[in-house]
Amino acid sequence: MRAFARPLFLPASIKDVIESLGVPHTEVDLILVNSVPRGFGYLVGDGDYISVYPGFTSLDVSSLLQLRPPLNDIRFVVDTHLGRLATYLRMLGFDTRYETSCDDQELSRISAHRTRILLTRDRGLLRRGEVTYGYFVRATEPRRQLLEVVRRFNLFRLAAPFERCLRCNRRLEPVSKESIRDRLPPRTAECYQEFHICLDCDRLYWPGSHYEHMRRFLQHVLGATTQVSREPESPALG
Ligand SMILES: [Zn+2]
Repeated sequence: MRAFARPLFLPASIKDVIESLGVPHTEVDLILVNSVPRGFGYLVGDGDYISVYPGFTSLDVSSLLQLRPPLNDIRFVVDTHLGRLATYLRMLGFDTRYETSCDDQELSRISAHRTRILLTRDRGLLRRGEVTYGYFVRATEPRRQLLEVVRRFNLFRLAAPFERCLRCNRRLEPVSKESIRDRLPPRTAECYQEFHICLDCDRLYWPGSHYEHMRRFLQHVLGATTQVSREPESPALG
């Protein structure tokens, strides 16, 4: 924590003051002005002592938070440059919207209207007024990005690994082996008993050869307290 004086031209909203220092408003979870919690619209007064806090993950300060309503469901919309992160979040079962064709306006609109947390490495995108829930992803390597997001939003106990289509985000449905047998390589039909299908893209999933590798990775991300198992990703067929 660092205290400093900042000369300002008033009137100025506290959101504008914070963002003029390079911090998108979505990164801020609590603002105290002279020890009183305030919202982003607060107009800074002469001599105000302002404390700005990031997200709290290990301290319950919910009674103080008033910058944005708490989220009932954790859902994401991911910037076009973070495709691998989007796939990993789907692998953990999180509803994650990702389209390579989305521009900044579309991303912020989806985030605002669908109440999705916007994940991006573009600070300018997070400064948009309509974006209420967002997060600036610091890491550049996708696996580290996943770990960072899991920690930031405390997703450890919310994950449902291998329950969502990696390609189109839909929840997977169980499917009987008999009904898809003609789409399976003979050895797969012989070795595996449980299969799932995405009803949007028709992709099939079963605990194929990549499963154990991915299961270990997710286990590493979620930590030893969470058991990772369930139907895994495998090569698409059909
Ligand atoms: Zn699909």
